[in-house]
Amino acid sequence: MKVLDWYFKSNLLIRILLGLILGAAAGLIFGPKIVWVSPLGDIFVRLLKMIVMPVVMFTLIVGAASIHPARLGRVGAKALGFYMITTAFAVAIGLIMGNIFQPGKGLELAGAASGFGKALTQPSLIETLVNIIPKNPFNAIASGQILPTIFFSLIFGIGIAYLRESEDERVKGSADTVFRFFEGSAEVMYKVVNWMLQYAPIGVFALIAVVFGKQGAEAFGPLGIVTFAVYLGLMTHMLLVYGGALAIFGINPLKFFRRAKEAMITAFVTRSSGGTLPVSLDIAQKKLGVSKGVYSFTLPLGATINMDGTAIYQGVCAIFVGFAIGTPLTMGQQMTVIMTAVLASVGTAGVPGAGAIMLLMVLNSVGLSVEPGTTVAMAYAMIFGIDALLDMGRTALNVTGDLTVTCVVAKSEGEIDEACWEDVGVPEKAVS
Ligand code: ASP
Repeated sequence: MKVLDWYFKSNLLIRILLGLILGAAAGLIFGPKIVWVSPLGDIFVRLLKMIVMPVVMFTLIVGAASIHPARLGRVGAKALGFYMITTAFAVAIGLIMGNIFQPGKGLELAGAASGFGKALTQPSLIETLVNIIPKNPFNAIASGQILPTIFFSLIFGIGIAYLRESEDERVKGSADTVFRFFEGSAEVMYKVVNWMLQYAPIGVFALIAVVFGKQGAEAFGPLGIVTFAVYLGLMTHMLLVYGGALAIFGINPLKFFRRAKEAMITAFVTRSSGGTLPVSLDIAQKKLGVSKGVYSFTLPLGATINMDGTAIYQGVCAIFVGFAIGTPLTMGQQMTVIMTAVLASVGTAGVPGAGAIMLLMVLNSVGLSVEPGTTVAMAYAMIFGIDALLDMGRTALNVTGDLTVTCVVAKSEGEIDEACWEDVGVPEKAVS
């Protein structure tokens, strides 16, 4: 079968983009009649829902378990602190961009009510905070409650990390086994995600066709606005938060950005923080003059848990979905988004497209559940269709954040080689 051959051999991103374009075209041509393709979209939504809880749990457990308690001294605490604070700023910037540009406004995907669930009975902020602790973790996991699941996975992972350092060989051995089990499980889930993505072009086609069938060409505008708002948020964060932090610690931001650019470009094209790690490590050592003791800990940690670009994207997209279904997020819901997006970005694996899957959890936390056949699912599909474009920018920012925090921590610890920064221009492999 030539068609199948082509399908599986051609580039996935191009196929997803084709799905988006053909879906929009089919929707415009056939109008509301195109609804009959919606089961194909429902399959995609169900597949996404199927993988989200296991991916989150396994990734978080492995991430938390990889932080060696012994290395968690001052450098570790500082790095973690900076990572969390910059991420909270990031979501806030994302929400501000969302509120300013109001992407999705006026889109009002028909029958908004059908996609709208528990949002009206949203608990208060205090309640949300207290509810993070699950009464019964298994119940939380089974019923898809996201914050309690994240909380439990982190605690569980930290527990593994401690026991892996145990003096007692038997305990250490068991903890290692548990760690490997979850590490393997996480890898298996990434594989499943890859398979699932093979179906994504068809799913995106069907979901987008229904949106355009109902909305006509007007649906293009909101997507442009989402993209613009996300990229403006990314730039703002880079200049204000990273530029500001560097300047406060006496590091010249311009010099920094010039030296970090290879990592940024690599992240932009690979869309993977994990994949960019070797380049970041090299730059930290050779161009930024950071000592190995610092960067060998902060960069791998950052590539796993620090995702400011992802957080900004999730902020903007949550606002988009709210507007798109005709019920903009309330202030309380936006507060919940900040909290969930910070945690969700921690749980996002540094691989292409992971942030889009974690967005499901962020939406869920404010009562916008992506269920087959709902308007929330349609709005989600619209963003998913352009995910590659958004992923490039957010990954570049994710990696820049890791390098920024690395420099700031190193500087505050006196672990940066100032000589490396003195030359005019970029010292090519100045220190080795
Ligand atoms: N691709 C991003 C990264 O690797 C994660 C994401 O999808 O947001 O950093």
